[in-house]
Amino acid sequence: SVAYFNGDFIKVDDAVMPLEERGLQFGDSVYEVIRVYNGKPYTLIEHLQRLLISSESIMLASPNVMELEELVLQGIDKLQMQSGTIYLQITRGSASRNHEFPIDAHQNLMAIWKVDEGVISTPDQGVKLKSFPDERWKKCFIKSTCLLPNVLAKEKAKRKGCYEALLIRDAEIKECSAMNVFIVKDGVVKTPPADQSILNGITRQKVLSLASQNGLLTSETVLTIEDIEVADEIFITSTTKELIPVTQVDNFIIGNGKLGENFSLIHRLYKEDVIRECGA
Ligand code: PMP
Repeated sequence: SVAYFNGDFIKVDDAVMPLEERGLQFGDSVYEVIRVYNGKPYTLIEHLQRLLISSESIMLASPNVMELEELVLQGIDKLQMQSGTIYLQITRGSASRNHEFPIDAHQNLMAIWKVDEGVISTPDQGVKLKSFPDERWKKCFIKSTCLLPNVLAKEKAKRKGCYEALLIRDAEIKECSAMNVFIVKDGVVKTPPADQSILNGITRQKVLSLASQNGLLTSETVLTIEDIEVADEIFITSTTKELIPVTQVDNFIIGNGKLGENFSLIHRLYKEDVIRECGA
């Protein structure tokens, strides 16, 4: 792996961050995670555009998308990375601790490139979800590093033997702690609307467009626990995990407890898109 901090490539564990840093002390920062296939970043521009939206939404001066693109490619090149993930983070900067924005601080820009084996395993049994009240703030469309509620929900789900936490707010299903959620019912691929209450996942958007391009009906609509009870299929999505089938939510067995045909189709379409965009 390799890292970057404010202009220099460094080692991931180099001590470059001052203790008084706003990302660290306030979660005053935004981030992205991008996946690399075959030496190429998948949906890079979509991720960088979302980083722009996140930055603007917290009153952080917009990053230069072209410079970030260049940086991402430099790191891939440096590592000769074939497969892996890239983490980008922009914070409001280093400053003596004080809630209001510092006047003279400059943003900290950091990145980490991590090589992996490139095998994203899809559990063929499907995974279990555990539902929890969504205890996050009201602006979850911003990809900020204020992730404590997400971390706690994920840990609680794990301690119950579940793969992810399904977050419920005002009786509506929102998303998981780090993944979006889809329900298939009577052939319609449904997912909660991307309002301010969820992160509009890049994988979510890709799944919606691939599904509709291939003749499946899609719907961005409010979903509740009742939709879980009658679901034919459920799956969850993210950049790093791609698409993961769900066969149980709390005590409900989904469909017949086996992988659904729509999941298998959409999963295949996704893999084909990766090959189309990044090469074999
Ligand atoms: N929701 C949340 C809360 C997330 O943290 C993530 C992944 N970071 C996602 C959804 C999935 O987003 P993407 O497909 O862009 O990785």
